[in-house]
Amino acid sequence: MQNLTQKIMIAMGAGALLGVVVNLLFVDVAIVNDYFINGLLYVVGAIFIASLKMLVVPLVFVSLVGGVTSLGDLTALGRMSIKAISLYLGTTMIAVSIALTLAVSVGPGAGFEIGSTTAEFTGREAPPLADVIINMVPSNPVSAMASGNMLQIIVFALLFGIAITMSGERGRHVLNVFNDLDVVIMKMVEIIMRLAPYGVFALIARTFATQGIELILPLLGYFLTLMCALGLHALVVYPTLLKTFANLNPFIFLRKMRDPATFAFSTASSAATIPVTLRTAEAKLGVDNAVASFTVPLGATINMDGTAIMQGVATVFIANVYGVDLTLANYLMVVLTATLASIGTAAVPGVGLIMLTMVLNQVGLPVEGIALIIGVDRILDMMRTACNVTGDCTVTCIIAKSEGALDLETFNDRNAGAINIDQADEA
Ligand code: ASP
Repeated sequence: MQNLTQKIMIAMGAGALLGVVVNLLFVDVAIVNDYFINGLLYVVGAIFIASLKMLVVPLVFVSLVGGVTSLGDLTALGRMSIKAISLYLGTTMIAVSIALTLAVSVGPGAGFEIGSTTAEFTGREAPPLADVIINMVPSNPVSAMASGNMLQIIVFALLFGIAITMSGERGRHVLNVFNDLDVVIMKMVEIIMRLAPYGVFALIARTFATQGIELILPLLGYFLTLMCALGLHALVVYPTLLKTFANLNPFIFLRKMRDPATFAFSTASSAATIPVTLRTAEAKLGVDNAVASFTVPLGATINMDGTAIMQGVATVFIANVYGVDLTLANYLMVVLTATLASIGTAAVPGVGLIMLTMVLNQVGLPVEGIALIIGVDRILDMMRTACNVTGDCTVTCIIAKSEGALDLETFNDRNAGAINIDQADEA
């Protein structure tokens, strides 16, 4: 009997191996490039990402409406929102601080030759805070769903759920429909997950086939410092928080994070990973839908610890390359802006790098510095996205435990929620 998670992990390893071999031996062969890398692998990978994204909006909406109604009262929702926002911001601040401390001690970028890259980069201004707040309320919920605007969908679903609770018998009829739909959409998630080994294989193979190691070598210091900071945050900080605040076994947690982490790694998008993160939180970690349906999409939207870590390390790297000395006030500014930038970062590939312009602007560093690191960003994006979703699940578990909404038996059961691929109809 083989478990789907194992099959996905094998597909990831095999994809990486094939990608490296293709990159070393065949990358200049036109037929391989056209028909294999940018043909077969591209098509399979793109279909896989599209099918995941297809589920995000219906899943978040249906699941959150059901979740809010089962909360019972508005005080619980208010309490949960405060806990979620504080923990999401708190963990991001810890993340940037670790990144800065590590980067300042290692000092990546000193002695780097600016002339070694010719890429150009144009920055983007951060939207005014007032607009960000106003934009949370959808003036047209259908357009919010059509464009996948997660915060707007969350606001509309919360209001819809609250109204259902206040609508008595009629509301209960509507709720029954939503609860049934939730089961059906979760089934769709499982169907798509069964295709994951092929999708993950294609995505990883293509990334490694197109990203040569020679891109990474000149930036090795930056790359390794960032990897260490991400590892420290995901493997030390989150486990410590889980143990301290929720008294949960971090090893079980990390083991169960393999599915969302692999999906995040291969798609480089926390938004596309929402279906898998939500399923893991509920079916594997035992978090009640009332908590997970709110904290997971919210986390995917505003909680980007991995992205903030990248911004911290990148700022120090760029300062070193340009020979700029950062002051303590500058570092504090980086913590603050990187935290805010991570809220505003869209959960799709590469946006973290665009938001880095905000951080660099704040401390007066040249935005063109981003051109230096853009070449290695794809693989780092994959890693930081895996860290981002691990953070979402950590906070979700802590909140669920504090609300009495975490089923310990499911959490501790190694096989809970596993999809057995030998049994086609029983997931
Ligand atoms: N790709 C990241 C995510 O989806 C965002 C980023 O850092 O670019 O979480």
